[in-house]
Amino acid sequence: MTYKISILVTGGAGYIGSHCSKAAAEAGFMPICYDNLSTGHADFARWGPLIVGDIHDSGKLTSVIREHNVQAVMHFAAFSAVGESVVDPQKYYFNNVAGTLALLRGMRDAGCDKLVFSSTGAVYGNAGRDPIQESAAGQTVNPYGRSKWMVEQILTDYRAAYQFNSVCLRYFNACGADPSGSIGERRDPETHLIPRALMALQGHVSNFAIFGEDYDTPDGTAVRDYIHVNDLAAAHVAALQLLLNGGSGGAFNLGTGVGYSVRQIVDAVLAETGRSVPLVVRERRAGDPPILVADPAQSETALGFKATHSGLPDIIRSAWAWHQKAHPLREDIREAQA
Ligand code: UDP
Repeated sequence: MTYKISILVTGGAGYIGSHCSKAAAEAGFMPICYDNLSTGHADFARWGPLIVGDIHDSGKLTSVIREHNVQAVMHFAAFSAVGESVVDPQKYYFNNVAGTLALLRGMRDAGCDKLVFSSTGAVYGNAGRDPIQESAAGQTVNPYGRSKWMVEQILTDYRAAYQFNSVCLRYFNACGADPSGSIGERRDPETHLIPRALMALQGHVSNFAIFGEDYDTPDGTAVRDYIHVNDLAAAHVAALQLLLNGGSGGAFNLGTGVGYSVRQIVDAVLAETGRSVPLVVRERRAGDPPILVADPAQSETALGFKATHSGLPDIIRSAWAWHQKAHPLREDIREAQA
């Protein structure tokens, strides 16, 4: 029997956590999914055992880590909707910051001192630079970004005080789906651009709109750096290996270095699917910066990571394949098209 290194994946039943669990299993790890299923899906925990638990429960985390001889944790369990964080900051600080502190306590009590942390390009806020380098962090413009930045700072202090090593991966816009068709974006309500555009084409989102056309960008709509979730997953495996090989970690961007505007994304969605949707422009969404594009150089150097699945057609085709499976076309639309 081959011995597999166990890792704990908090939020492993969510979108990014499940893709990273699959990649970790394929790299020879045993991913133990730890999820309270508040937004995750039990059927996404396919690559190891599912333990239903909350990150606030330090005692349970300590027992699970000891019982499974967990060597490192990948931590995804968090809320991630920028707009919601503006209207309900307590929800974000309690879960994303206090919840992470409880996880860190559970880990330390069990003697586990390696963490891959799911951070975000939102730690840059209005960085005003393009592409953005890691050193620009801290100008956050919404509670979601601040909650992640607070945790990054906590982890820096833990490294200095406790030799608790971590890699913070600052994702830009995660998107796309695994070609297996078994996992993908499934949220209720859906707030992200690409899935909302696809669900609008299917008749499952009735109020799809472009949020803001008056930004200081080439076409007036906001610009983001879209990275395929399987590229993110490969970077997580590289980060795990870095920590398990004795690296002390750091904070790295995960992006492509290429920005697309909301309008370019919507045009690409229509072109790839061959469908159309009435386009409405609404006011800006609170908390949205105009441009977020990564400088990916440091993650290439430190993790040997380069995005290879993140061409826009690949992203949209894989997401569309998933959405067609996950949310079949509404009956009246199917009939109208018959
Ligand atoms: N967006 C939009 N319509 C939507 C959802 C999002 O115009 O239905 C815009 C949003 O304002 C932002 C960009 O698309 O400028 C990406 O938003 P998303 O929520 O996908 O990711 P975020 O950048 O907030 O992490």
